[in-house]
Amino acid sequence: MTDPKSAPALSADVMTLAGELGAERSKPGWSTFSLAINDDQREIRDWTHAFAADVIRPAASEWDEREETPWPIIQEAAKIGLYGLDMNVNLFVDPTGLLMPLVHEELFWGDAGIAMSLKGTGLASSAIFSNGTPEQWSQWMGRCYGTADDVRVAAFCSSEPGAGSDVSAIRTRATYDSVTNEWVINGQKAWATNGGIADIHVVVATVDPSLGTKGQAAFVVPKSEVRGLEMGTKLRKHGLRASHTADVFFDNVRIPAENVLGGKEKLDARLARAREAAGQRARVPAAGQQVRNASMATFEMTRHLVGAQAIGIARAAYEVALEYAKTREQFGRPIIDNQGIAFKLADMALEIDAARLLVWRAANMSSALMRGETPDYQHGEGSMAKLKAGEVAVKVTEEAIQILGGNGYTREYPVERMHRDAKIYTIFEGTSEIQRLVIARAISGMRIR
Ligand SMILES: Cc1cc2nc3c(=O)[nH]c(=O)nc-3n(C[C@H](O)[C@H](O)[C@H](O)COP(=O)(O)OP(=O)(O)OC[C@H]3O[C@@H](n4cnc5c(N)ncnc54)[C@H](O)[C@@H]3O)c2cc1C
Repeated sequence: MTDPKSAPALSADVMTLAGELGAERSKPGWSTFSLAINDDQREIRDWTHAFAADVIRPAASEWDEREETPWPIIQEAAKIGLYGLDMNVNLFVDPTGLLMPLVHEELFWGDAGIAMSLKGTGLASSAIFSNGTPEQWSQWMGRCYGTADDVRVAAFCSSEPGAGSDVSAIRTRATYDSVTNEWVINGQKAWATNGGIADIHVVVATVDPSLGTKGQAAFVVPKSEVRGLEMGTKLRKHGLRASHTADVFFDNVRIPAENVLGGKEKLDARLARAREAAGQRARVPAAGQQVRNASMATFEMTRHLVGAQAIGIARAAYEVALEYAKTREQFGRPIIDNQGIAFKLADMALEIDAARLLVWRAANMSSALMRGETPDYQHGEGSMAKLKAGEVAVKVTEEAIQILGGNGYTREYPVERMHRDAKIYTIFEGTSEIQRLVIARAISGMRIR
């Protein structure tokens, strides 16, 4: 293991790409995209698909049964450049915003548990990107992934036992110690993907509990450099079993003052404004207004990608079911000869395509948001994409089991695993109910509860 302190900052290549992104921004037609993907997008999608088909898919059942992080596969992905910060920057600079979801869909088509081990780090690095300063990007984002020889994962810790959907209930506390110029973090985080096995933990904590979400900030906690960060119970799950999920405890964890994302000065100014505004009547954010607390900003940037993951699972199950329906014979003919089965498959294909279109629209809007533009969010488009794709994945995988009959219910066939994996997509990164709440508020301008 190399000393994590010497792990790379953003490489020169990455900085060049970031520069190119700036140049691209000024080009006309930035935010437009075509549903016909271009040659570059197709090439990267097909390359990812090949890895998913040749490396991920054959290992899916084994890692699901082992319920362990598939480190050898993460390493293999890093060696070919599919895992790491450079890859993510490459995807990110695609002006249409489509490359990211294309890659996510292919990886999760391979297997959702393994793919989550490859992509879970993105939640932490996105939090650093969306809340941090350029210096913090350089300092921390490379470390989230490590190097091809020494791969790392990162964790984003927002949820707590008492704060899941309700992020305003976060109790983990960050207190500033002016004597040592450090933050002291205390609290318990729940269900953290890569929690405790990561080096970089991005932790959402409250600095001023009286201000609710406005009193929160995100902090970078490098496990290898602190004392008091302990992994709690590793959770045994229904699905996504090749992805590690655990509680994380913070017991007087001290980190330098500069580890607050965005910087302490900016945080102090934000808290002062919030205190000034406190007491005024709570205002419902207008449709399209950006949500600005630390965890919500991260979710906004990544929500459609969660939808793309769900579509990958749904497509995988649909393909297995289609093939099975063409070959399985009952009553002397393939079962697809019955409208009862063929119509199920038609609906599955339709729903997958509908969900993908919502994801692509939200992806395009999200790429505008990341460039500092204000996309015309009217209907909670990010939430629509995640909601639709998650529910489609659950429905399609369930129908796939139905089409495979008894075989579908066994571990001899992959659709039962896909169904278990799909279910999380109506729960994490905002449950289906919370997505409906966001959409309902966006379309009505009212504080629906
Ligand atoms: C595998 C896995 C990985 C995860 N990874 C991470 C991670 O990396 N980082 C992280 O921070 N968190 C993570 N989570 C946590 C996840 O984001 C939460 O589980 C999720 O936000 C829901 O919170 P909860 O479980 O507390 O449910 P609750 O908020 O308690 O909700 C329970 C039920 O009540 C409903 N409900 C709640 N409020 C309302 C309302 N106002 N209106 C209508 N219905 C409502 C919900 O929709 C749900 O059906 C992960 C969870 C899992 C299972």
